[in-house]
Amino acid sequence: MSFESFDLSPEILRAVAEEGYTEPTPVQQRAIPVILAGNDVMVGAQTGTGKTAGFALPLLHLLQTRPQSCEHRQPRVLILTPTRELTAQVGDSVKVYSRHLPLRTAIVYGGVKLKPQIDQLRKGVDIVVATPGRLLDHAGQKNVDLSSVEYLVLDEADRMLDMGFIQDIRRILALMPARRQNLLFSATFSPEIEGLAASFLNAPQRIQIARRNSAAEGVVHTVHPVDRSRKRELLIKLIKTHDWPQVLIFVNMKQSVDRLAQWLNSAGIHAEPIHGDKNQGQRTRALADFKKGKLRVLVATDVASRGLDIEDLPYVVNYELPEEVENYVHRIGRTGRAGRHGEAVSLVAADEMALLEEIEVLLDMEINREVVPGFEPDPRIKVVGTALKRRYRSSPSPFPASGGGEKDAPVEHWSKRRGPKGDGGETAL
Ligand code: AMP
Repeated sequence: MSFESFDLSPEILRAVAEEGYTEPTPVQQRAIPVILAGNDVMVGAQTGTGKTAGFALPLLHLLQTRPQSCEHRQPRVLILTPTRELTAQVGDSVKVYSRHLPLRTAIVYGGVKLKPQIDQLRKGVDIVVATPGRLLDHAGQKNVDLSSVEYLVLDEADRMLDMGFIQDIRRILALMPARRQNLLFSATFSPEIEGLAASFLNAPQRIQIARRNSAAEGVVHTVHPVDRSRKRELLIKLIKTHDWPQVLIFVNMKQSVDRLAQWLNSAGIHAEPIHGDKNQGQRTRALADFKKGKLRVLVATDVASRGLDIEDLPYVVNYELPEEVENYVHRIGRTGRAGRHGEAVSLVAADEMALLEEIEVLLDMEINREVVPGFEPDPRIKVVGTALKRRYRSSPSPFPASGGGEKDAPVEHWSKRRGPKGDGGETAL
């Protein structure tokens, strides 16, 4: 199937071709015709599936083919997203897809000065991509009038609810005309999302895109067992000996992000940290440098990395395994995209082995363990019983029958909850 089979204008098709897209992704194949036909939709799709073009292309076509009814140039499309990064990313994509159209897009998020956004909004725009809080600030100051919005997109609706935006969303809904086309995108559908959807979508068509099984396709997973106190050394060795051109490294705490980035820089590896305490300018700059290939290493927390569209990234390192095991899938979702080869490398200390087992259960696969010569874990670090075993003690076996026996055997690691004892109290980070 090609993009030409959709009823999209030549200007839009040109921009798509210039982006190098030859075939619509599954979410695009299903959502574009439904949106062009004027229906509300509820789409279950994650970032990385091509959902932005899935809603942006048909909306641009609708804007182009149906002229504005009011005299002033007022926003006709409002796209709400949960984070600054995602807003910038979606806004940039909309600008790319509309580059041959006489449409103006404003990108509006908090943490940066109001004035440039005010100037942009007052000039008159057709499309606003915004985070809810900052948009309400502008609406309150009458910098933007939402009374002409004809199309509303709620992107990553589940995260918006998780981040407590429900009241803001309701306030924004009240500023728009009731007659609109509404598009809701969400990776998951909880009862809360269903409730929100029921309150503002009109007979929506549901489109569910299979979860991108990024964990399984195109990605080689490796675990390097290593003592916690030697992780930094091993990381530097891996980056240098494999000559990894670019790598995204995950840690669990924002304090560790800064320390690890400093450590890498002092070892001559150009690294920048990205986490919620960095100001927006720093975050945007680090991300832009990384995307341009000017920065070799980006060190991030899960929160900072969510929804980031970093394409074509061959290496992701889990400096620590995520405590929420689902985050393993989110983390490595940045590599091996679109059939490309990717590697997910995890440095796993004895006290993380229980998490590793949980991740393997989630992925339904065993991850190859490779001890790097010279970094053999200290065999004296042993503990009988595991965090996992305790957690599931009273429940029936959570493991497939075939693996059950060995999971109950004593495992050589420290209990995460109890914390390491006797390893000299050294913490790598
Ligand atoms: P999204 O899920 O919207 O964040 O998109 C993920 C990535 O896929 C972005 O880098 C897009 O540029 C890219 N993309 C979107 N649609 C296509 C397509 N049809 N063919 C190739 N790449 C695409």
